[in-house]
Amino acid sequence: MAARHVTRGVLTALNGTTGAGLLIAVLTRSRLRRGRHGVLIAEGYRLPIPPASCFTVGSVIVTRRSAEWLLDEQRAALFGHEHRHAEQYAVLGPLFWPAYWAACGWSYATTGSWGVRNFLEKNAGLKAGGYPTDLPLRPWAVRGLAAIRSRRRPDESPSPD
Ligand SMILES: [Zn+2]
Repeated sequence: MAARHVTRGVLTALNGTTGAGLLIAVLTRSRLRRGRHGVLIAEGYRLPIPPASCFTVGSVIVTRRSAEWLLDEQRAALFGHEHRHAEQYAVLGPLFWPAYWAACGWSYATTGSWGVRNFLEKNAGLKAGGYPTDLPLRPWAVRGLAAIRSRRRPDESPSPD
């Protein structure tokens, strides 16, 4: 296992996020399996929330499917996406949760998608995570950003409207 994966595993163990992932696995009676790069997979998750096929908590990827399904070569991009979230947990620790929900809120408010403008999903790879890679901004966000830009550049000639 590469040093980077060991570091991630140790950090997510120390910051408690892997413990939270293991607790979710135990409480939901998901079965723990060995994944790749030292990541654990909790398979057979059955609760309706969140609606995604997998989600990551610390160094534990929780999935509705089986570990074999997620480790299949065809799902390499998805595994890479979830693994990237595990690395984000190593850096952010429990702050991942408020950061993630704030990023979801921002993305949803500006585009109607939880992922497109969510910096944590962008960092993990939108396409690999099953998100659209781009969506137009909602009208209020377009106006707001235009207002911010025009305030930042007072030297420029004013726009005709
Ligand atoms: Zn994701």
